[in-house]
Amino acid sequence: MKTISICFLGCFIALAALSGCTPQEQPHSVRGETMGTFYNVKYFGAARLALDAAIDNRLQQLDASLSTYKSSSEVSLFNASKANQWFSVSASTAEIVALAQSISLRSDGAFDITVGPLVELWGFGSGPFQSEPPPAELIRERLSHVGYQNISVRNNPPALRKSHPATAIDLSAIAKGYAVDQLAELLDNAGVDAWLIEVGGELRTRGSKTAGQPWQVGIEKPITNKRSAQRIISLSNAAIATSGDYRNFFEFNGVRYSHSINPLTGWPVPDNIGSVSVIANDAMTADAWATALLVKGSDEALQLAEANDLAISIIQRGADGKLTEQLSPAFAALLNN
Ligand code: FAD
Repeated sequence: MKTISICFLGCFIALAALSGCTPQEQPHSVRGETMGTFYNVKYFGAARLALDAAIDNRLQQLDASLSTYKSSSEVSLFNASKANQWFSVSASTAEIVALAQSISLRSDGAFDITVGPLVELWGFGSGPFQSEPPPAELIRERLSHVGYQNISVRNNPPALRKSHPATAIDLSAIAKGYAVDQLAELLDNAGVDAWLIEVGGELRTRGSKTAGQPWQVGIEKPITNKRSAQRIISLSNAAIATSGDYRNFFEFNGVRYSHSINPLTGWPVPDNIGSVSVIANDAMTADAWATALLVKGSDEALQLAEANDLAISIIQRGADGKLTEQLSPAFAALLNN
């Protein structure tokens, strides 16, 4: 059985059993670049150029408004704005920030979009990449501007407000998930009933692929030297997102510093937790929780997952480099379905 496999950060899309299918049973595929990464959308039925164009347009629109890599984006303009005044934003941005704030609350601040200045300081944002930790006093200084409580969001009319002039938001841990959900809405509204959407490793499916087989997705091993699946799962009408410390990091004096920052300390997560994958009904929720739980660390992450009935897989790296995986009860239950 020929398996076509495509690897993405965190997720490994295994399109098994496509061999021997008639051409009309092969999913149509549309790919491109967005948000400093790639997207890949597969849907069954005839290729529809107008739909493919609408997919790319929506992603470019979101990139243009949510990016901290574009000074003209509304997020960058908000970050540069003064404090204590409502700053008008699009409904999308307000919706994303509202969910971000709720997950900040439920994760005791482990997820916090105001880590932006720390992400830049550690070299994981739009500025130059760093190869060693910044001075501790600079970390303390930036940390004083961090706190999701500094941000207020209004839905009608949509607007954001910050209570500290130096507070700046970074939506990198939630906006790609939102983008996946926006494409899901586009495809559903176009009457497509079987699709798989992936943006930068965040992924969501509808229906099944050929002959009623569910879409199969691999969760990648959090290793740097090659890409291989820790496990392959069936994923239908659900989303999966992974956050990890094995793609975006630097090592200094034998310690790994990755791009997931603890908003309470200002430092990157400890270097033994390889990755957290979360399955949820929508990709934005999965995306944000994956970062929140990575920051929380394995014990607290499993407690939080149980308290919120989240389906999570945590893959940790032992001192000997060996990987161990722990599943929340909700994830284990999905495997038994
Ligand atoms: P995830 O685990 O999903 O998120 C980690 C990221 O979230 C970190 O990189 C940091 O930015 C942020 N973060 C860290 N700690 C926390 C925390 N505790 N709480 C909340 N957030 C945290 N990259 C480029 O190189 N070039 C680009 O032009 C570019 N454009 C982008 C435009 C948009 C709209 C977005 C959303 C991102 C863009 N990026 C760009 C960043 C890139 O797409 C990825 O978002 C980034 O590499 C992290 O994605 P991930 O899935 O690996 O990490």
